[in-house]
Amino acid sequence: YSLDHFVIPSHYQKDVSSILIPHGIIMDRIEKLAKLIVEDSKGPLVICCVLKGGHQFFADLVNEIKKCNTVLGQSVPLSLEFIKVRSYHNDVSTGTVSISLTDEECQDWKNKNLLIVEDIIDTGNTMVKLLHKLQEFQPASVRVASLLLKKTPKSNGYVPNYVGFAIPDEFVVGYALDYNEYFRDLDHICIISVSYILDFG
Ligand code: 5GP
Ligand code: MG
Ligand code: MG
Repeated sequence: YSLDHFVIPSHYQKDVSSILIPHGIIMDRIEKLAKLIVEDSKGPLVICCVLKGGHQFFADLVNEIKKCNTVLGQSVPLSLEFIKVRSYHNDVSTGTVSISLTDEECQDWKNKNLLIVEDIIDTGNTMVKLLHKLQEFQPASVRVASLLLKKTPKSNGYVPNYVGFAIPDEFVVGYALDYNEYFRDLDHICIISVSYILDFG
């Protein structure tokens, strides 16, 4: 896509090298994902946002599921949860993740159907560890929706239940994905210019 065709905040104009997925296409895809998720859901869903990168996808996905419930007459009651995940990579093979909710708060997930909403799966290591950790709380089921799935030789083979887009092995930003906390306030999913990484990386 030619950059001139899109709205990019002036503070990022020089830092974006290309647009990988324009905002409108993201929104279209999320409408479709919401319909798939609702079709697969037999009852209430605990929908759990993985902060911070997952927040925009989560917000738009929840909106689309709400539309399915009103306009399409579906009935999937949602409860909303938010977690931050921290991976410890001291030892890659036995690393664990800690989540920001206390074990007590997570006890509410017992026998519930969980949908984890994540921004991107790269190696898959974080998600595999998170799924392992969640088993402690004995949910009835756990599914994962990730907006992006990176096609990388570093993948551990994990594939989420719902994927927005499979993308090439590049570092992407925008739509809540960051580089050193910047670019979350950019609507499109973009590749940043090499000069930006050299200057600010
Ligand atoms: P994984 O454990 O699958 O290798 O990586 C998971 C996390 O790394 C993602 O949730 C995300 O926070 C971060 N990450 C991986 N690839 C990218 C990327 O291309 N861009 C950004 N902004 N974050 C990424
Ligand atoms: Mg993430
Ligand atoms: Mg990040």
